[in-house]
Amino acid sequence: MTFITRFAPSPTGPLHLGHAYSALLAHDLAREADGVFLLRIEDTDTSRARIAWEEQIYDDLNWLGLTWQTPVLRQSEHLERYNKVLMSLADKGLIYPCSCRRSDIRAALSAPQEGVTAPLVYPGLCRGRPMSSRKPGDALRLHMARALEHLDAPATLMEVGPLHCGSQVVSMDALLNKTGDAVLGRKEIETVSYVLAAVIDDAAQEVTHVIRGADLFDTTPLQVVLQKLLGLPTPVYHHHRLIRDDAGKRLAKRDDARAIAKFRADGATPADIREMVGLAPKFERAAQG
Ligand code: GLU
Repeated sequence: MTFITRFAPSPTGPLHLGHAYSALLAHDLAREADGVFLLRIEDTDTSRARIAWEEQIYDDLNWLGLTWQTPVLRQSEHLERYNKVLMSLADKGLIYPCSCRRSDIRAALSAPQEGVTAPLVYPGLCRGRPMSSRKPGDALRLHMARALEHLDAPATLMEVGPLHCGSQVVSMDALLNKTGDAVLGRKEIETVSYVLAAVIDDAAQEVTHVIRGADLFDTTPLQVVLQKLLGLPTPVYHHHRLIRDDAGKRLAKRDDARAIAKFRADGATPADIREMVGLAPKFERAAQG
């Protein structure tokens, strides 16, 4: 089986050192395995994605010395395909429309503590609504309890990252009480969340290994459940360490000071970037004998 991996940035800001690490690691591992490295542009969030950021992604990755198969899959060109999959879940009774705003959800959750910004687990205010009641501006949520009932066997995955190594069974309890009824269809009609689009494309592109940051570790059980519901294979996951700033905080898109473009402008070389993120010098394929 060919090793196929991908780097899947959302063009909503500049790539920073964390992205460089992710892309370089995936690229190196693909080359070591004589496999394939894909670049996928995850631009389904049309309100935030910008073509200028997409162009900067190509430019930065080229400069880092990465090569990838073309044409690149741009998710904004495939919304209809994703929406069809979402509707297939709706046909099974697993999706419902939701008009709640964040403030409704906060108000419905018991005694939120001041200053605590724990992720909001949706309290199910719209759970009884049929699909036929969807209005413009409604999101579409997965009915998690029902989705879990649909699985004919426990959902498992193989993780080979530093956080965990080995096969694991996804926790139903965490899915119900931490993930909850995730949004799969965004407010804009026919736009699905990246969680679902990524699952559909990882299967469509026959990705065997998902290599990405540990910040997405908690998203994986939901994606595995979606794979099972849709009859799609589950790739091997590798959630790598995060690159942090001097204060130990994980880098975010707004950390322009650590943008690859900024280091380039200041005269850094691609080798300097590899060193900054703690990667060995460029992997060179041994001469074919
Ligand atoms: N598009 C996501 C991001 O930029 C990455 C999704 C993934 O690697 O699965 O955070």
